[in-house]
Amino acid sequence: MATYEYSCNRCGSFDVKLPIGTAPIAHACPQCSNTARRVYSSPATAFTSPAVAGLRKQEEKSWENPTVVTRVPPEQAAPRPAHPALARLPRP
Ligand SMILES: [Zn+2]
Repeated sequence: MATYEYSCNRCGSFDVKLPIGTAPIAHACPQCSNTARRVYSSPATAFTSPAVAGLRKQEEKSWENPTVVTRVPPEQAAPRPAHPALARLPRP
């Protein structure tokens, strides 16, 4: 669904939600039933953080040129105890 904007000469502008690509040039005004013309405006796009934009760009790049891995990455060491007192406890 997409939101399309229409403008009525009497009542002003209003929005109509329709499936993408199905918006007619004119639509009946919900208040006065007069024919309202479609208004073309810029799409409402959300701001994407630079970190997310960079990851998306990296992902799109990997579609054409995926990164080749030649060996299995080494396992990381087990995390150490968070509290120093835990390190003094007897070990089996
Ligand atoms: Zn109207």
